[in-house]
Amino acid sequence: MGFFAHSDDEAIGAGGLFLKEAEAGIKPVAVLFFGNRERQAEFKKSCEILNAKPIILGLKDRFAGRQELFEKLVSIIREEKPLYCITHSKYDYHPDHDFVRKIALEAIEFAGHDTAEKAWVVEHVLFSETNNLLPEPNIIVDISKTLEAKIRALECHKSQVMADHKQGYYPGSVRKKAELRGLQIGAQYGEAFEELRMPIHANCYGKTRGIEKFSEKI
Ligand SMILES: [Zn+2]
Repeated sequence: MGFFAHSDDEAIGAGGLFLKEAEAGIKPVAVLFFGNRERQAEFKKSCEILNAKPIILGLKDRFAGRQELFEKLVSIIREEKPLYCITHSKYDYHPDHDFVRKIALEAIEFAGHDTAEKAWVVEHVLFSETNNLLPEPNIIVDISKTLEAKIRALECHKSQVMADHKQGYYPGSVRKKAELRGLQIGAQYGEAFEELRMPIHANCYGKTRGIEKFSEKI
């Protein structure tokens, strides 16, 4: 499950991994925070290509209804029961990305509290690489087979990708980053993440966080 500020962040940051999950028979969930109708429609098209279930929150800005939003995120996590979550990294300069990361982490932590029978413990959080390069990624997923579909998903965001002053930038930067991350793992293309292990805490209802090496699963 991924939490993304804008329509296009899902393709740029996690498109390759989502497509890999599809190959393994897993349907990821992509939660979109902000964006008008046009960008919401683009998000749905991108999610179709990425085989992801879209959940659109449709928030206008980050300044209203924080508690309600927090509670909504907690209930989405408890309902969808993800093994791991993806969101923006702390190195990302965009204030909307920073907002999403902070509230998503709070919701992920709280969703596992044993105050309710429906508590769900998320074992791992992955920070994605969108605007800024991650300085110390500790997971790089081989996306050699899925890069082209990832770029097709990115191109669904016509309002972003096709704007005159931006033409070619996003697909170009995604491809260059994928080349760099692929080089680091001896593959053609890669997608980088920084993994955060969530702290283990007592939980009588939720699943206990395991100690297995998560990076081998994806
Ligand atoms: Zn964004």
